[in-house]
Amino acid sequence: MSDTVKYLLDEKDMPTHWYNIMADLPEPMAPPLHPGTGQPIGPDDLAPLFPMELIKQEMSTEREIEIPEEVRDIFRQWRPTPLYRARRLEKALDTPAKIYYKYEGVSPAGSHKPNTAIPQAYYNKAEGITKLATETGAGQWGSSLAFAGALFGMEIDVYMVKVSFGQKPYRKALMESYGARCVASPSNETNAGRAILADHPDSNGSLGIAISEAVEIAATRDDTKYALGSVLNHVLMHQTIVGQECMKQMDMAGDYPDVIVGCTGGGSNFGGIAFPYLGEKLRGGKDTKFIAVEPAACPTLTRGQFAYDFGDTGHLTPLVKMHTLGSTFIPPGFHSGGLRYHGMAPQVSHVQDLGLIESKAYHQTTCFEAGVKFARAEGILPAPEANHAVRGAIDEALRCKEEGKSETILFNLCGHGHFDMQAYMDYFGGNLQDLDYDEGELAMALAGLPSVAAE
Ligand SMILES: *Cc1c(COP(=O)(O)O)cnc(C)c1O
Repeated sequence: MSDTVKYLLDEKDMPTHWYNIMADLPEPMAPPLHPGTGQPIGPDDLAPLFPMELIKQEMSTEREIEIPEEVRDIFRQWRPTPLYRARRLEKALDTPAKIYYKYEGVSPAGSHKPNTAIPQAYYNKAEGITKLATETGAGQWGSSLAFAGALFGMEIDVYMVKVSFGQKPYRKALMESYGARCVASPSNETNAGRAILADHPDSNGSLGIAISEAVEIAATRDDTKYALGSVLNHVLMHQTIVGQECMKQMDMAGDYPDVIVGCTGGGSNFGGIAFPYLGEKLRGGKDTKFIAVEPAACPTLTRGQFAYDFGDTGHLTPLVKMHTLGSTFIPPGFHSGGLRYHGMAPQVSHVQDLGLIESKAYHQTTCFEAGVKFARAEGILPAPEANHAVRGAIDEALRCKEEGKSETILFNLCGHGHFDMQAYMDYFGGNLQDLDYDEGELAMALAGLPSVAAE
């Protein structure tokens, strides 16, 4: 047996196309609806927010869409990313399982998010847009779009969820280093923000609120569009470069995953690593198991309803069918800001509803414990969000140990935690609490789901 721990692809083996799961779904997805009419929306309804090329991708059912050469040129700075075999972690766990991880923390912004930030900025720029407005949770998406804005000479406005704005000042500094503007949300700059502040002056903010603010700015300005770092079909498709690279690298390793694990906030890094494999499975390939791991304090896939809901708190977006905790649900302010979203990618929701993937929820301290164990074995300190995937992968490896199985586990190490040291300090200081959401608030948020005639 070889002791290889790192599988690197040549630049020339970087995927040239994104993979679109829509082509292989056994049942079509429920269409997004116009909140006013209850009718399926068309491309024109989305035109105030997105450039036409991204709208086409959002609605496409073609299996492959070419990655523009200019985008690939930029990707070559850090892609293909490495795939590692976690031999030291396997030893530490004394498991017969083989654990592999794809490391997306090597991007300039430190996560998988530039995989979609770069093409989104590219398509907007190509259609004459000079400014993008967006939201960010922990700041990973804001810094990724800020990076893209710097490369394409675009103005970037980022509405950052207030609790993370306070927890992660260095993420704001990174966005500003790239030339972006970063504002704590809810802010006084928008009607949506002012409305929340009027009712809850001390609001911690949420991704749902920050999305409303960014959408409002984009919808009311001709030169400005909106960019979303997760959830949407085209975003998940942009992330499939990750899973496609894994396929080639797992081939190099002479292995094939029995289990694929990813953490889920909006579903993009999970979809990115899982969908190319799920597509292969749906076309008659091997029977891989897919596990989405989410925070117990914001348990969208494990506790939410699969129903039409708004993507934002201010109800400015179309209605999409997804697993949701209700658009007015404000999760407690735990440390994985990137996972504090009330909804889930409609594609991830759909494949869970079809029984094609499983989901699991963990509290944050057990995830940090897993992340620290991982760091002590492998040297890389994961982002708090990624710790959920690490926890999920370790538990699969421990299950293999119990069952005496040498299964192959692959997980997405979607970002490093170098800007999240306060969270680790809180963990080591014993100050990290396993926050629970308020059952009453969840019930109220779910009771407020919009009623949709088409259902
Ligand atoms: C944004 C982010 C997430 C959550 O978003 P997904 O769309 O679910 O991937 C998870 N991990 C990291 C490192 C992130 O930056």
